[in-house]
Amino acid sequence: MDKELTRDSFDRLVHATACDNEVRCVAAVTTNLVAEASKRHRASPTVSAALGRSLTGGLLLGTMLKDVERLTLVFQCDGPIGGITVDADAHGNVRGYVKNPSVDLPLNNRRKLDVGGIVGRGMLHVVREGGYYEMGIYRDAYRGSVPIVSGEIAEDIAYYLSQSEQIPSAVSLGVFVMPDEDAHYRVTGAGGFMIQVFPGASETVVAELEETIRQMPAVTEMIREGCGPRDILHAALGRHRLTVLEEKPVRFRCTCSYERALRIISAIDPEELKSMLLEDGGAEMVCHFCNASYRIDAATLADIIDRETRA
Ligand code: ZN
Repeated sequence: MDKELTRDSFDRLVHATACDNEVRCVAAVTTNLVAEASKRHRASPTVSAALGRSLTGGLLLGTMLKDVERLTLVFQCDGPIGGITVDADAHGNVRGYVKNPSVDLPLNNRRKLDVGGIVGRGMLHVVREGGYYEMGIYRDAYRGSVPIVSGEIAEDIAYYLSQSEQIPSAVSLGVFVMPDEDAHYRVTGAGGFMIQVFPGASETVVAELEETIRQMPAVTEMIREGCGPRDILHAALGRHRLTVLEEKPVRFRCTCSYERALRIISAIDPEELKSMLLEDGGAEMVCHFCNASYRIDAATLADIIDRETRA
């Protein structure tokens, strides 16, 4: 990954409880990391919104992970976007990609980016796994799948939480894409929140929260006015006080590297590598998650072929 794009941004996440621990809540501002993902993948405005909501959703769900676990969200869908994959950890790192980043759709009949239209229908799969693979210590993966209900991402994640994890949740995710002077565009606000109600929460509290959430301004509006994750949670919880459990920076971060690219190349059949050397004078590997490309030069490739043929 190039240095310029990996610097930490001001994106933040706040994880809290409220109402005597009956309510768990998380909010995140992800403007910079969504803008970075959009730029890396050269995503269209509607794809930027779909990917940005998914990345933010991954970070919110990531707060449910234990230390060494990872979470993968996959929208396996029939809309023009072709599929979305997001991978998040418990430390605020997220990465993701879509199958067709350049496709776009006109605004929907509410004059909004048509995320539901570009995603379409299909399944949402969530996989939670973790452990210390290098030492062979890991627990069984947890997998859950639900049908995509609207393709608007937040609703789909809320449906997944209610069906697969039996946690009633309100989820709101937003990405604001602003047209630029020269027919370009940029992401100027992104973020979201998730409010979860534990069994035993009083019906009065639930009804009150539903009403407060319905009346609060859109998250992207709040973020574009300079609000942080705490402000978003205060708006969503109304009169209820927050107990903050953690506040941390969040970022787009990929685990790929030149060394990993070399290891993958070394696993390819030497005959195939020879033809790459002859035809392309080297090899190039592009990481799906972050679009970084790794060029393996002719001398290095020849060394690998030599080593693999003798092995
Ligand atoms: Zn990568």
